[in-house]
Amino acid sequence: MIEPDMRKLPAVSKLLDYPPLQPARQQYGPVLLTSAIRSVLQRYRAQLPMHVPELAQLADEVAAELFKSQQPVLRMVINATGIVLHTNLGRAPLHPSAVQAVQMAAEGYLNLELELATGKRSSRQNPIRADLQRLTGAEAATVVNNCAAATVIVLRALAAGKEVIVSRGQLVEIGGSFRIPDILTVSGATLREVGTTNITRLSDYEQAIGPNTGAILRVHASNYRIRGFTKSVGIAELVALGQKHNIPVIDDVGSGAVYDLTPFGLPGEPTISEGIRAGAAIALFSGDKLLGGPQTGCIVGKQELIQRIERDPLMRAFRCDKMTLAALEATLQLYRDPERAKRNIPVLRMLTTPLTELRQRAQAFAEALRASQAFQQVEVQDAEAFVGGGSLPDVALPTAVIALSVAGQSEELFAERLRTGTPAVMARIQAGQVWLDLRTVFAEQEPALLQALQAAAQNRVGGGVTPPSSHTTGRTYVSGGS
Ligand SMILES: *Cc1c(COP(=O)(O)O)cnc(C)c1O
Repeated sequence: MIEPDMRKLPAVSKLLDYPPLQPARQQYGPVLLTSAIRSVLQRYRAQLPMHVPELAQLADEVAAELFKSQQPVLRMVINATGIVLHTNLGRAPLHPSAVQAVQMAAEGYLNLELELATGKRSSRQNPIRADLQRLTGAEAATVVNNCAAATVIVLRALAAGKEVIVSRGQLVEIGGSFRIPDILTVSGATLREVGTTNITRLSDYEQAIGPNTGAILRVHASNYRIRGFTKSVGIAELVALGQKHNIPVIDDVGSGAVYDLTPFGLPGEPTISEGIRAGAAIALFSGDKLLGGPQTGCIVGKQELIQRIERDPLMRAFRCDKMTLAALEATLQLYRDPERAKRNIPVLRMLTTPLTELRQRAQAFAEALRASQAFQQVEVQDAEAFVGGGSLPDVALPTAVIALSVAGQSEELFAERLRTGTPAVMARIQAGQVWLDLRTVFAEQEPALLQALQAAAQNRVGGGVTPPSSHTTGRTYVSGGS
């Protein structure tokens, strides 16, 4: 049965032709506009008792609906958590030169597998080989989609059908379903566990070596630490053992620091060249962790083994796309000058920002927040942050945070409004407050962060990209994304 009131809602065509909605119709086209009109009318129809608004109000709601439906799911987030390698936020932000390289690769054609001098076909790995070799001291280098893929393909190419010796203290889970024992199974190798959770000795490895040993694998304990009564075997000793028995040693470095970060208060992260210098046959590491580049799995080591890996059919399944390779090449180029790399690569710059600088930025930002009077409490205090991304799990990085509370809003509600605002903001919730750490906020994002905070505190829809009201402003409903 039709509700009698329903006839009072305007017809779709009436709204479609309603003059204040014409700019939106021009921008998005009649198909998307019609669909937005239908969903708004449907919302009213579902109400009981039904309230029928003015045409102008309906038009506003249609415009807002249209705008919302056109927002991509993936959008920029201001990372105010202070966690530099936040996997859920995409890990390493790229340097502008890498961003430019991505754009060049994305929008046109490029010599991805072509040698321009000869006009002959070449390998897509060529642009990254020399820099990776120089950076790690390895003979050869190749790159796949991520470090998980690198682990699979290396174990398969070097040890399928054979045993791989791993310490029980290194049978790690990196996250999700990535567990070393499962990865070994997938690659067709057999796991040969040695030692115990806390203690593994060189003799444990040596006793496990037999005619069917394919490799010794060392996995860097990226995301956990074993403390107390412990013993593990260093890469140099493992390499010496491997050489004695003619068995390759694979070093899964994981987070992949190029430089020793100890002077910056980040001890305990092995550098990627350590294992290679010691004579490891292969080292692997992620491109989007401490290296500060795009998501990749870098594989470096002996020429003959790299060639074997590249001949594996999985190479095609795991290969990187043109945008990734362009970004990696640009990132690696920055490492040619170590001082510039430390200053310019975003991940390294953020990790090495001095505490005094963080305090100053926090103080200045806190002043701006206090001036806006939307907050009950604004305090700058010293705190600790973590690197994230499964790197340096037990190193607390001294940092400065702005601790905020808003009258009449719980910290959870305020944090939720920040997350769902425009731009989205991720903050930490701690001690009944919302904490902002500017370490991971780019200086040019500060005005937008300030606006987003004020909007969330006053429970307005966030900063500057909401559709203006049609009948009050007469403006075009433009998307905020352009
Ligand atoms: C992070 C990590 C991986 C996985 O790397 P992705 O690039 O995320 O696939 C593998 N091994 C170790 C030791 C790691 O730290």
